Amino acid sequence: MLQVSPVRAFSDNYIWLIRAPADATAAVVVDPGDDRPVDQTLQETGLELRAILVTHHHADHVGGVGALAGKHGAPVFGPARESLPCAAQALDDGGTVDLGHLGLRFSVMAVPGHTLGHIAYAGHGAVFCGDTLFSAGCGRLFEGTATQMLDSLDRLAALPDSTRVYCAHEYTLANLRFAVSVEPDNPDVRDALAEASRRRERDEITLPSTLGRERRINPFLRSRSSPVRAAAERHAGRPLPSPVDVFAALRAWKDGFRQEP
Ligand SMILES: [Zn+2]
Repeated sequence: MLQVSPVRAFSDNYIWLIRAPADATAAVVVDPGDDRPVDQTLQETGLELRAILVTHHHADHVGGVGALAGKHGAPVFGPARESLPCAAQALDDGGTVDLGHLGLRFSVMAVPGHTLGHIAYAGHGAVFCGDTLFSAGCGRLFEGTATQMLDSLDRLAALPDSTRVYCAHEYTLANLRFAVSVEPDNPDVRDALAEASRRRERDEITLPSTLGRERRINPFLRSRSSPVRAAAERHAGRPLPSPVDVFAALRAWKDGFRQEP
């Protein structure tokens, strides 16, 4: 199993640090929005940074890329359809990141919606999905449409149940409070909320999740389930004939959702 650890950045970002299976001295990072905590982790662990993977162009994902690439000479991989603050090997849907010397290989999935060129990296039983899929939630639609985002989530959800989901933010608890409002009778959602509450009280991470778990607790992967559709229709006050109508109504509901303090 891939060894992955979180590097905390800003208030709720996770920069994922992957240890190279074929080289005990090497590491790869995903979405380093800040170079300082990454450098600190490299110093503490004695690891050398050998590659940087980027999912999309937002500053909290790319802010540290230039400094880390310059300091460590690490190659940068990123989405072909977005402009990044430094040179990167451009990746698009169906592409691969082949780091054979490190024992790492990821396939690239285009997952537009949060941004138009957003990509995810899948491999070794894991997916690094940036701001597309969160535990019990999904990214806001800053650039894409509901149709694009639902299609992207469907593609991620087609990965095996056991796939570990490495999201870029600690949003799980707030997402589950919303999920409970959508599906108050779903015991998996209630259990997940209790567990996330316990973990966050101790400042513990709630990630990675798995796709099997997300299919049970994430309302945005459940647009086709009748309780989710019924709740979205009640909230929207109109019939929602298609899954994308349900998804768009859920996303709009969540955008305006104010959780209890
Ligand atoms: Zn983002």
